[in-house]
Amino acid sequence: MVMNDKYEAVIGLEVHAQLSTDSKLFCGDSTSFGAMPNTHISPITMGHPGTLPRTNKKAVEYAIRIGLACNCEIEKDNYFARKNYFYPDLPKGYQVSQHTTPICKGGFVTINTAAGERNVQLNRIHLEEDAGKSIHDMDDDFTCIDLNRAGTPLVEIVTEPDLFSAEEAWQYVTEIRRLVRWIGICDGNMEEGSLRCDANVSIRLKGETRLGTRVEVKNLNSIRNVKKAIEYEIERMIAVVENGGRVQQQTRSFDAATDTTFSIRDKEEANDYRYFPDPDLAPFHLTDTFIGKVREALPSLPKALTEKYRVRYGLSQYDAAQLCDEKATADYFESVTEHTTQYKALANWILGPIRQHLNEQGKGFEAISLAPAILAELVKLVEDGKVSFSVAAAKILPVVIAENNSPLTVAESLNLLQVSDTNELEAWINSALESMPDKVAEYKKGKKGLIGLFVGEVKKRSQGKADPKIVTQLLEQRLNS
Ligand code: ADP
Ligand code: MG
Repeated sequence: MVMNDKYEAVIGLEVHAQLSTDSKLFCGDSTSFGAMPNTHISPITMGHPGTLPRTNKKAVEYAIRIGLACNCEIEKDNYFARKNYFYPDLPKGYQVSQHTTPICKGGFVTINTAAGERNVQLNRIHLEEDAGKSIHDMDDDFTCIDLNRAGTPLVEIVTEPDLFSAEEAWQYVTEIRRLVRWIGICDGNMEEGSLRCDANVSIRLKGETRLGTRVEVKNLNSIRNVKKAIEYEIERMIAVVENGGRVQQQTRSFDAATDTTFSIRDKEEANDYRYFPDPDLAPFHLTDTFIGKVREALPSLPKALTEKYRVRYGLSQYDAAQLCDEKATADYFESVTEHTTQYKALANWILGPIRQHLNEQGKGFEAISLAPAILAELVKLVEDGKVSFSVAAAKILPVVIAENNSPLTVAESLNLLQVSDTNELEAWINSALESMPDKVAEYKKGKKGLIGLFVGEVKKRSQGKADPKIVTQLLEQRLNS
């Protein structure tokens, strides 16, 4: 990318997260994805006159959860407003949203950048309802409309203009996706539209403090597309300005086939949506008790947990962060720590062979069947030198997972226990050394690095069963005497 030294990019993101409540924001219609079109559409979703919507308490609770997870201030006095507009896929003719009183104010999200951790400031998180879906490619002559999604609860998470590169935007959306999944309010599935992002992008001369004219790229449906769209916009804007032009305020769309954006609307004069409090929906007051209960029910968040794994369990920052990439992985790790104190070895098992085993089966840690106590036994078996790590990972683990059987029993029945009996080891050592007299001579002349070769040869002859620590000792005794 020809990111120019003269300019700085400024980005603000609006992320819509579909809340994983069973029912919609103001009625009991199901929110499940993939149902037959227009089957989850009660009279309330359809906006029939005289129907009375009621607020879904779970959705309010979920909004508070994400607000607390993002360090926001929670607004106690809330109401919903109507945003009046002709929406082809929202039959009421208005969207219910929280215009002047977002339920969560301020706050920040911590991201990892090349320069270290940084807090991205949030403006607000508010509740609103989703619209239905217009389907343009089903019929040649008509646009089809599926209203199942209409009325599904969303939170919109809005940052301040506080991101300064496409890379930072990538990190931010990745973190938001991890957070919403972690606290269980949204499945974070961007392909299904559960998480969608609008990117506001502007550029300015470095050192300038005023914001430049922005462009809004709508409906980015993958983290990759967020990054690509922003990269493209920054380059496009720099080219415009360098050629003596001015950036036009626009709404744009992203074409994932070419990684470019195109204008869909030129400078919008501020629309007058005639917001007013929805007269059918009672304002709602949140008590400290209710907010406190939501706070208590929140799981430990990834940032705090990463820190705990580093400090309490002595793991590296890298391992700790990997374990906290998904909640199911961290939960599993935690459950095994109740049975072992060999944390580093445990982390290696989980991030290595076990993750690989699950990957091969197309599963995640939420689907793991290996009992924590059994994994702890396997860790111990290796740490005690009874089997080598590679043999345990390749041969014992698959059987232990399939049978949830004791690792020691499996190792015995497969004849894989490491041999530490000196007589047996001596026999392998003899044959190994006899097979390479030249190397032995070199070693004796001072090429001590060859010890690894001898140990490897002994291991090979023992089919991995020779305990390498004892073999090394024996070899050194023998060769140095
Ligand atoms: P709207 O609701 O009309 O889209 P907002 O003022 O609420 O407008 O801003 C939406 C998003 O755009 C916010 O994330 C905000 O930080 C960002 N934003 C506003 N102005 C700029 C700008 N000049 N450059 C980059 N981002 C901006
Ligand atoms: Mg916007």
